[in-house]
Amino acid sequence: MPTSATTSQRISRNGVDGNKRVGLQLERFTSQHTNPDVLVVGAGPAGSVIARELARRGVSVLLVDKAVFPRSKVCGCCLNGAALAALAAIGLGDLARQCGAVPLRSVRLASGKTSAEVALPSGVALSRETFDSALIREAVAAGVTFLPGVRANGGDFFGGPVTGPGDDHQVELDHGGQSVTVSARVVVLATGLAGSAGNALQSPGSRLGAGVVVPAGVVPAFFSRGTIFMATGRGGYVGLVRVEDDRLDVAAAFDPEFVRASGGLGRAAETILAQTGWPLVPRLAALGWKGTPALTRRPAVLAARGVFAVGDAAGYVEPFTGEGMAWAIASAAALAPIARRAVVGWDDGLAREWAQTHIRQVRRRQRVCRVAAWILRSPRLARLAVQSLALLPCLSRPVVAALNRAPALSHEPFA
Ligand SMILES: Cc1cc2nc3c(=O)[nH]c(=O)nc-3n(C[C@H](O)[C@H](O)[C@H](O)COP(=O)(O)OP(=O)(O)OC[C@H]3O[C@@H](n4cnc5c(N)ncnc54)[C@H](O)[C@@H]3O)c2cc1C
Repeated sequence: MPTSATTSQRISRNGVDGNKRVGLQLERFTSQHTNPDVLVVGAGPAGSVIARELARRGVSVLLVDKAVFPRSKVCGCCLNGAALAALAAIGLGDLARQCGAVPLRSVRLASGKTSAEVALPSGVALSRETFDSALIREAVAAGVTFLPGVRANGGDFFGGPVTGPGDDHQVELDHGGQSVTVSARVVVLATGLAGSAGNALQSPGSRLGAGVVVPAGVVPAFFSRGTIFMATGRGGYVGLVRVEDDRLDVAAAFDPEFVRASGGLGRAAETILAQTGWPLVPRLAALGWKGTPALTRRPAVLAARGVFAVGDAAGYVEPFTGEGMAWAIASAAALAPIARRAVVGWDDGLAREWAQTHIRQVRRRQRVCRVAAWILRSPRLARLAVQSLALLPCLSRPVVAALNRAPALSHEPFA
């Protein structure tokens, strides 16, 4: 495999906490022309996993993220059985436990005052500050160079001209106003929802995401560790779960119109939670809520000319079933062998292969989530579903089993 494996040796390795050294490292990029084989943009689960998988295969990888870590992110923070199995398949089966993740036993669903408790066979709750930082550390340990606080500029990576020597991509990286251009044979866009791949098509009527993390000291004891509390209502749904340090992660999906009518993200959450009769989380609306762009989206192009989209950047469906991280981890691991071949030389067959792999790994698994999203649009159907589960909890078993099923990952031998 003709990769420039020395690149990561020439650049000093940058850990999660090494933000101060980033400016210096960017300068080195220009002065030493230390260009990576692969530039991965975005260090969420998809970006860190593919960066690590490529480094394990001998490819030199630069991973950048505009955020400084640890950082929080709007997310329900639940890794289901499929996510844990995907982590185990890439040798990180113990990571969540080492991070102090809280094992999940059940999910309590509420539609108005009607509620049902469904047992969960597997899954853990873990804050995104802790989980994403741990994955980055694993990527760095595998040889990835990581630069936090660095934004990759480029509106349309798929359509933009390839101006570098050979087939290389020139990407402008910006750190606090200082910018440099790096050249990479392959670019992986793992930019999540906010940093779209430049060609994301949002589904009409899509909901938007919202979240906040509540300090442990003010959380009512009712919201106990090991249970996901999920309230559905007209206009959206809200999920609450205790993470490793006992804080309460609150994540929601709302109709934009409902947020406007409620007077903001926090008020929208309070409105839905108030209908359940659960204890109120004090001053919930006053906390620092963050929102996301439209949740349900799909890019027109998944790969072209040495650029691949993965994770949420490759398409996402509403978060009700809590599977996004499983899709991100499994599909990133599945993309690694394809991206490695793209380093050697681009061929349009690689784009087709990635599109087919993505359909198998992600789009088929998104069907359950699409059906759940459709049911939740109708408060009457949602109430009927919760009433049925309250009477016959066993009805949930096939769905819960399908959601937690281990993803099939190819076992291409490493270099
Ligand atoms: C309300 C809500 C609840 C959810 N609950 C769950 C759940 O319980 N379980 C679950 O599995 N999934 C859940 N998800 C989904 C999950 O959060 C995502 O699917 C997952 O984070 C996708 O990972 P990713 O790596 O693709 O993107 P992200 O985790 O979003 O990471 C993308 C990274 O790219 C960086 N970035 C973007 N643009 C640039 C740029 N130009 N330059 C540099 N860096 C850039 C960002 O800073 C970010 O760190 C939920 C989502 C929402 C909205």
